[in-house]
Amino acid sequence: MEVGEGVSQGGRKPGLLRINNNLGYIAGIDIGATSLDVALADVTGLILQRCSEPTDVKLKPEIVFARCSELLVSILKTNGATPDQLLGIGMGVPGPVDFARGVLVAPPLMPEWENFLIRDFFKKTFNSAFVVIDNDVNIMAMGEQSAGEGSGVDHFIFVKIGTGIGAGIISNGKIHRGSDGSAGDIGHICVDKNGPLCACGNKGCLEAMAAGPAITARALEAIRNGSSPVLRQIAEAGGGTIRPEDVNTACREGDQAALDIIRDSGQMIGDVLASLVNFFNPSHIFIGGGIANFGNHLLVAIRRAVLHRSLPLATTHLSIKFSRMGSNVGVIGAISLALDYLFAIEDNPHFFG
Ligand SMILES: [Zn+2]
Repeated sequence: MEVGEGVSQGGRKPGLLRINNNLGYIAGIDIGATSLDVALADVTGLILQRCSEPTDVKLKPEIVFARCSELLVSILKTNGATPDQLLGIGMGVPGPVDFARGVLVAPPLMPEWENFLIRDFFKKTFNSAFVVIDNDVNIMAMGEQSAGEGSGVDHFIFVKIGTGIGAGIISNGKIHRGSDGSAGDIGHICVDKNGPLCACGNKGCLEAMAAGPAITARALEAIRNGSSPVLRQIAEAGGGTIRPEDVNTACREGDQAALDIIRDSGQMIGDVLASLVNFFNPSHIFIGGGIANFGNHLLVAIRRAVLHRSLPLATTHLSIKFSRMGSNVGVIGAISLALDYLFAIEDNPHFFG
């Protein structure tokens, strides 16, 4: 839309334009293994409202997506808008995504979601909107790039550590999805061929060894063998259950077994990241996800392993830090993904059927 005139450079005064933010709305949806976030933004990317609630991806996809859809309709209504004013939806889901088709392929955490037609589902309610679906860690990398410290950084890796472990790769300023969309799926790199069984069917994957459920399993083992009095107390107070964050709490209280669990997890993640650093030579690694709240012991263990095992040239300028964007990073990335497609419509005709 026209917003007045600029300063003359000698000839006629130039007309100034800006994006009309009444054009419509964009939604960002970030589905994690245990939580979902839905946000509504205008076409400049300004978030108008966001809501977050627990979910469980072991439920059928219809149930989880119906809840996302319901929340979105409700947020649109609160902002005086109707579903047909929604121009696009950007979405992240916790599994391997065939980006061109917009479907999950063999997702270990939720096998029932395989090939579910997510776009068709949302088209039923939001018929004017395009739907772009990506892996949850890719949208986090895009969120870090659009509004975090990854802004202006050409080569970086965003690592999510939560129920699973994955990486989003920004190469030459763009998200790198690879040939089929599975680039960055580092959670299933083998750490120990004789290790525990992973949800993917293989043994000893990084995810099965170092992510949230592995941390919990080791904590329960420490309680059983009597090596962690603090974790025992926490479990007794919580009715026998332990969450990954309880291990962090015990560690802060000086519990040696809890500290060992966190350090081991950090070292295994760091060893895998060292290979990625040698292979890809990023300037930054940003770490996010639920386990990222674990503070310095985890970060120090990751850094130490990466520095120990990477080539000196690759680590001279390498920065490894926690993302400071918190739980917003996914929805911000999802909105950024949707805006990229909104304003690149002619380059991407097959996303707008
Ligand atoms: Zn695996």
